Amino acid sequence: MEFEAVIGLEVHAQLSTESKMFCSCSTKFGSEPNTQICPVCTGFPGVLPVINKKAIEYALKLALALGCKINLYSIMARKNYFYPDLPKGYQISQYELPIAEGGALEIEVNGKTKKIGLIRIHIEEDAGKLIHDEKQSVSYVDFNRAGVPLLEIVSKPEISSPEEAVAYLKTLRSLLRYLKICDGNMEEGSLRCDANVSVKPKGSSEFGTKVELKNMNSFKHVEKALAYEIRRQIGLLLEGKSVIQETRLYDEATQTTHPMRGKEEAHDYCYFPDPDLIEIKIEESLIEKLFKELPELPLQKKRRFVETYFLTPYEADILTEEKSLADFFEATVKLYPNPKAVSNFILTEVLRYLNKDHKQIEETNLKPEHLAELLKLVESEVISMTIAKQIFSEVYEKGYPPSKIIEEKGLIQESSEAKLKEVCEIVLKENPKEVEKYKAGKKGVLGFFVGQVMKKTQGKANPKLVNKILEGLLEK
Ligand code: ADP
Ligand code: ZN
Ligand code: MG
Repeated sequence: MEFEAVIGLEVHAQLSTESKMFCSCSTKFGSEPNTQICPVCTGFPGVLPVINKKAIEYALKLALALGCKINLYSIMARKNYFYPDLPKGYQISQYELPIAEGGALEIEVNGKTKKIGLIRIHIEEDAGKLIHDEKQSVSYVDFNRAGVPLLEIVSKPEISSPEEAVAYLKTLRSLLRYLKICDGNMEEGSLRCDANVSVKPKGSSEFGTKVELKNMNSFKHVEKALAYEIRRQIGLLLEGKSVIQETRLYDEATQTTHPMRGKEEAHDYCYFPDPDLIEIKIEESLIEKLFKELPELPLQKKRRFVETYFLTPYEADILTEEKSLADFFEATVKLYPNPKAVSNFILTEVLRYLNKDHKQIEETNLKPEHLAELLKLVESEVISMTIAKQIFSEVYEKGYPPSKIIEEKGLIQESSEAKLKEVCEIVLKENPKEVEKYKAGKKGVLGFFVGQVMKKTQGKANPKLVNKILEGLLEK
């Protein structure tokens, strides 16, 4: 019997507003515990929360980008439950009337596009954070995060594999960053995901019992947790057992999931409209303004890159994941209109440095004019690609123009045929065995000779010319 998986994701995105959802405390990450708190976000009696207008605008931007239906009138509700990180004893969220409903996120997996429908997007506040000290058997609570604005983005159960789930998350993260409404940092918890998963016989129209997975803080974890859970559920069904509806935690150490608690129902939370907060009414003119301000979105940009610059979808995908990198690419191509060469250099060298430093392009000293200049110098054979890669570290780290470094270090490419011929002759003399091999038909040895010439000239030799000279000498 064949089974198929059904997955729906609930994503929490922390909004990058300066202040919290209902008070003016800072949302900055990583400060000393309990230094960004006030009576409002720590649940003192008698205080009045005030809605953060920026947070509403951010929610609208996302809703517009995803083609959701925006509710011009929505309300905040209290979701009641007790937990030590929730000082009020309830979380302010949205229930019956969320800010947006419907819409879809388009993803691409293995070259195929698929639209994943959305159920809703609602606004809520984050809870505080518990820190457990197991050695001393005590727990601490940090309320800095309490009251930070969140968007909850709930997908329809239309995701069919762990791979699609990861594509959905990556695309959503990229979109949030393009819109500049969430930094998408999963390690710091700015982007969190609960995954609902069930399995059913292939082709069946009836859904199986779902399990909710929590505690996954990277794309890899989401993928592994879902894969494990799908296997586990299929295993149960094959043994004639049934899946229990529950919340399970992913454990990275064992790469398995284990039960956390039974599933709670909406009525357990006794939702009711928050009497301290006014309703949210949205002007049509605000929506129009925000719509006009929407940037070109990642998928559109990716398609445009493939069409206008003749890049592969793979290349376009990486170049457009971050808006700043895509902008950098286009600015460089404007100055040096060779998209393939620019793309190749960015995808290999530039990204290697960015990954090493955990930086975004705009946080570095690299400028489009410098990359353009570097590639032009290679094209006009003033320097070799080897030298270009060598001096790139200084262009990147210090922000020096390539021409300055080349001049200072005397790195201009050696293109004098007479001089190079001398070096080639020495190399051939020093490696008689290799010369024999070449003459016996092993033409691949030529690369070795070129490498030796490069070594002797500190990478300055013009490789095309060296090839030509070596071939000439060896044919003799
Ligand atoms: P609940 O009321 O249990 O919270 P919701 O209808 O709010 O369920 O859906 C929560 C999430 O679970 C959504 O992302 C939805 O797509 C997903 N979901 C619902 N039913 C299933 C199912 N049978 N299998 C997998 N995911 C599901
Ligand atoms: Zn506060
Ligand atoms: Mg729900």
